[in-house]
Amino acid sequence: MKVLVVNAGSSSLKYQLIDVDSGEVIAKGLCERIGINGSKLTYKPTGKGTHEFERDMKDHTDAIQMVLDALVDKEIGVVGSMAEIDAVGHRIVHGGEKFSKSAVIDDDMLKEVESLTDLAPLHNPANLMGIRACRAIMPDTPMVAVFDTSFHQSMPPEAFLYGLPYEAYTDLMVRRYGFHGTSHFYVSQRAIAKLDMPAEQTRVITCDLGNGSSIAAVKGGKCIDTSMGLTPLEGVPMGTRCGDMDPAIVTFLMEKLDLDTAGINTYMNKKSGMLGISGVSSDFRDLGDAAQKGNERAELALKTFAYKVKKYIGAYAAALGGVDAIVFTAGVGENDKGVRARILEGLEYLGVDVDFEYNMHAPRGEEVEISKPGSKVKVFVIPTDEEMVIAKDTAKLTAK
Ligand code: ADP
Repeated sequence: MKVLVVNAGSSSLKYQLIDVDSGEVIAKGLCERIGINGSKLTYKPTGKGTHEFERDMKDHTDAIQMVLDALVDKEIGVVGSMAEIDAVGHRIVHGGEKFSKSAVIDDDMLKEVESLTDLAPLHNPANLMGIRACRAIMPDTPMVAVFDTSFHQSMPPEAFLYGLPYEAYTDLMVRRYGFHGTSHFYVSQRAIAKLDMPAEQTRVITCDLGNGSSIAAVKGGKCIDTSMGLTPLEGVPMGTRCGDMDPAIVTFLMEKLDLDTAGINTYMNKKSGMLGISGVSSDFRDLGDAAQKGNERAELALKTFAYKVKKYIGAYAAALGGVDAIVFTAGVGENDKGVRARILEGLEYLGVDVDFEYNMHAPRGEEVEISKPGSKVKVFVIPTDEEMVIAKDTAKLTAK
């Protein structure tokens, strides 16, 4: 079964065509600058190079049409016709409390997703544009929505409630939801498969560290806590997001810096985190380079990041009643060995015995164990694969 996986942003759209039975990625790529001058499609049919097309895409419908044209192209295409695409799986950022599982897309279901727009005003409308575009061009192809929040719906109330009046939760949906769920689900499943113990007894901490970062506590395969909250702003400081802080800072800064709600949102979402602390960059590669050259604020940003991740690991070890595995994934978790080392230093008391030498030389792009053979807590680096989870869920829900 061939599934097209679509991840639509406001001006970009990532896609992968996956053969779910073989697990093979048949083609993948990206549309950039949709609705902006200079839009571009990148198309990578597996084993057949990379092709770039610069052509105007005025909206997501144009973008999807270009993707499909490339997929069925006589020379560089990978399928004979659109009919060979059995289903489409869409990533949606926020599923609120309504979607604790992936769901087949129909008109009613889309209305429910629309009702959640307040919770993710930047992301959900963009995801919906991708869905509407696909439905317009492929009206007879079944489609499934896979939510970033679903995996975290198993959190108990004591983990998802804020210390606010209960009505903020019941009337306004203000609670912790968590994000990156598809990734936390995938890497925790991979780790559980590597642990020599019954799956229902496993206690795993997954660290999805990238431009946005979140940590999750996974007990017996189910999420019991995660660091992001109502929005992806909560948790550890990220590329440009502030993460956890005293909530009184919001009104303090609004007053002192004369910021309105949009202003404070930009301040906390786009100017803070690694960029804000270092004054150098939000990119961990730049920070590593700058710190090595003696830039103290870049060093401070990296130190702060590692310290906050370490604190979450400690908190989640307590929440889980111990820990059997720690997993690193995503751009930083998979690639930044220096940051991994900073996080893992000093966790010996938990039973973590890291092979720091191997951590620095472990191959990239594959699943590796960076703890020593006798370590009570296993430490894994596991490349995430959200697209494969979306493709498999889509196949499962649409199989005839
Ligand atoms: P997003 O949250 O946007 O999905 P990614 O998971 O793609 O983010 O991660 C992007 C981050 O990963 C960037 O900060 C980048 O610096 C970092 N990164 C990617 N490759 C490396 C590397 N080789 N060394 C250090 N950091 C890296």
